[in-house]
Amino acid sequence: MPLPKDSSLRVRFAPSPTGHLHLGGARTALFNFLLARHFGGTLVLRIEDTDRERSTQESISAILDGLGWLDLGWDEGPFFQTARLERYRELALHLLEKGHAYRCDCTSDILEAKRSEALKKGLPPRYDGHCRDRSVSPDRPHVLRFRTPENQSIVFDDLIRGPLSFDSAVLDDLIIIRSDGMPTYNFAVVVDDVDMKITHVIRGDDHINNTPRQIPIFKALGAPLPDFAHLPMIYGPDRTRLSKRHGATSVMVYRDMGFLPQALVNYLVRLGWSHKDQEIFSREELIAFFDLDHVGSSPSVFNPEKLLWLNAHYIKNTPGADLVPLLKEAIPPLPDPLPQAADSGHWVKLADELKGRAKTLVELAQFAHPFLDRSRTIDPESRKKILIPSNARVLENLSLALRALDRWTEDGLRNVFAQVGESLHLKLGELAQPVRVAITGKTVSPGIFEVLLLAGRETSLARIEEALRLSREPVTDGEPPPS
Ligand code: GLU
Repeated sequence: MPLPKDSSLRVRFAPSPTGHLHLGGARTALFNFLLARHFGGTLVLRIEDTDRERSTQESISAILDGLGWLDLGWDEGPFFQTARLERYRELALHLLEKGHAYRCDCTSDILEAKRSEALKKGLPPRYDGHCRDRSVSPDRPHVLRFRTPENQSIVFDDLIRGPLSFDSAVLDDLIIIRSDGMPTYNFAVVVDDVDMKITHVIRGDDHINNTPRQIPIFKALGAPLPDFAHLPMIYGPDRTRLSKRHGATSVMVYRDMGFLPQALVNYLVRLGWSHKDQEIFSREELIAFFDLDHVGSSPSVFNPEKLLWLNAHYIKNTPGADLVPLLKEAIPPLPDPLPQAADSGHWVKLADELKGRAKTLVELAQFAHPFLDRSRTIDPESRKKILIPSNARVLENLSLALRALDRWTEDGLRNVFAQVGESLHLKLGELAQPVRVAITGKTVSPGIFEVLLLAGRETSLARIEEALRLSREPVTDGEPPPS
């Protein structure tokens, strides 16, 4: 059912700051963001930090950094649950007064004993309601439990999963306020969703079993129920829940690996959502097209190859001038910079020439490095295969002809290669490869004339000379040369 265009739509992203912003969390944030933008609604950011042992300031910063990098802005907040403790207590006491909650002084030892007893009998280890009808004195150490309605079906129409029904008999009288006065997750979430007037709760389906626990609390508080949408899981390539075992899951690690945020956003949106068979979306298109109707209910499989493909697409389509600041961040140190490294135009040219081959910014930086620093290293495999005695002749002839070239232009370079090719009876590719290895240290690079122009005359000639020397030396594979 399509949602109405309605600026009263209010959604929230509610991370627990117990780690980095991971891919699953980022997708939840993105879907909430897009829905809010699509409908002209409001996105609330709420930090669920009541688990004081596991919540850290570092994680809060990491989550905010991740959202910032992905450019997922919010409209209200961040609200911190630890700043709202009074409010949870107030509403818990209200539920107590109304008979929807009760004090329980069962000790953890007693509860543990009952638990093992139930497990022994093969029964689900639930709270047995011992204190439901006792009136425990407020002076005793106690928790507050919610009085879950008995013999009821809790039904809701999940916007992705469809109608779901749970029997209240499987739900415990859950604790809403712990003995130290802290609210539990299920209670604080409901109080916040009520107070923040959330109309649509969109979250990962790891929360699907919490929803039937939360619905009776909404009702007991006399609050309208939001709509719920539980996003299907993200699997790793082996079809188990995506986790660290599958590689990086933290969004910021993708930044460090040289991904563009637009590529990651575009990748994440397709983990569950589709729009016809379109794969590439601008931000404007995402906002225009996004809805929950086209979020599928089956799990998505994380495909690193596709993410790389998207990243290559975005790098290729970003103007060189915009890539330069990112390239500068990704570039390895320049211990012995070439003079052109000081020229901003050279960087733009490099980015534009090299971006078509780079799958990540890290790769782009590796491609660019030999054109920025004298310390170019030759990949050992390329050296072994290409800088060999039979290529010494090529390098020697080219070196001589290039030295005699008075204007280092594409036309001039083309002429030199044509003449040398003719005299040695070799094709352009056969001439280009040793020169490519000489200049870049690798066998893959842009066109050879571009490489020579980017490196400049002096660097090119010096490197060809060095390669010539190397190609005359026997390759030793690390063994000392035979004496
Ligand atoms: N804080 C919860 C989490 O990070 C999300 C709660 C919710 O969205 O209701 O998993």
